[in-house]
Amino acid sequence: MTGAGRVHNFGAGPAVLPLEVVSEVAEALPNLSGSGFGLLEVSHRSGTFQNVIDSAEERVRRVLSVPDDYHVLFLQGGASTQFYMTALNLLGNEGKADFLITGGWSQKAIKEAGRVGDAEAAWDGSDDGFVSVPSNGDYAIRDEAGYMHYTSNNTLFGTQFHHLPDSGGKPRVVDASSDICGTPLDVSSHDLVYAGAQKNLGPSGVTLVILSPWAVSKIGEGVPTMLDYRTHVSKGSMFNTPNTFGIFVLDRVMAWVERNGGLEGAIERNRKKASLLYEELDRTPFWAPHANTDSRSVMNVTWRLANHDLEPAFLEEAAASGLGGLKGHRSVGGIRASMYNGCPIESVEALVSFMRRFEARHG
Ligand SMILES: *Cc1c(COP(=O)(O)O)cnc(C)c1O
Repeated sequence: MTGAGRVHNFGAGPAVLPLEVVSEVAEALPNLSGSGFGLLEVSHRSGTFQNVIDSAEERVRRVLSVPDDYHVLFLQGGASTQFYMTALNLLGNEGKADFLITGGWSQKAIKEAGRVGDAEAAWDGSDDGFVSVPSNGDYAIRDEAGYMHYTSNNTLFGTQFHHLPDSGGKPRVVDASSDICGTPLDVSSHDLVYAGAQKNLGPSGVTLVILSPWAVSKIGEGVPTMLDYRTHVSKGSMFNTPNTFGIFVLDRVMAWVERNGGLEGAIERNRKKASLLYEELDRTPFWAPHANTDSRSVMNVTWRLANHDLEPAFLEEAAASGLGGLKGHRSVGGIRASMYNGCPIESVEALVSFMRRFEARHG
């Protein structure tokens, strides 16, 4: 597969996948692993698929150094279902949880948790337009809180935690949808990790959930079957028909990560890509980066043009140069370049070189 005609894809999700993985998918479509059954046509109860899901789980465990007694699940409903499901399972009757509100996704998470129990913002960056994440010491977690929830990377506004946020000794729950397997993550310091796959791990429609024994022990009675983590733990993510296609692609992405230096390799590549782009954004006041320097995301880079009126031309000319998916989220405006694991450095080089030409023409 040559990839001819593909754009440099900076879309925020679903996002670009390594071309090698796309080729493997194409190959498996008519016949998965020589089974004679096509990838979209194989039973989840077959040995062929059991091998796929086992392999995906093992790779996730290896790449993320998941503690042996933690559970790894592949669920549906997106990270958005986890906003509610985490609270439903962990809060029980009259439970309390504290949230760090660093952007639109954490706002959605606290809203859903509030349907279940007492969900309070320990810190909220909305007044500042979400230009930063809090430092330890900027907030306090309530003594009676059962856990702390945070969003490790703020996909919309382009900020990211570069430290493990203090939880006042409480269990940590993290929405790692937009930086999982792309930046450092100490799973053992968390009790629940969840991530929609469509940014760093594969296609949309599969959600990775990692649970500690503590998290499982908190689940009370009366949780609807499909929303009870124990259902999926006991059935190996196959209580009902899982997203077989998505799990296959996730396994292939994780194999690609492993072939390319594992988590360390991914971290290094993502840092390189991000420095390349931030260097250009800091070079000239023609660009106005959104996030405060110490909170800058390596995965989603957001900026305005100092002259906002030039933004439509920027996006139009970028598209004509084969650079796609750069329109900023409507809550921020401007430009956003998402550079997840599957985004090659060549795409970022092409973007930076386009930006220089654009500034020369319009600056
Ligand atoms: C994309 C994203 C979500 C939403 O994921 P869905 O799978 O579409 O529900 C949630 N949280 C974060 C941090 C995201 O980046």
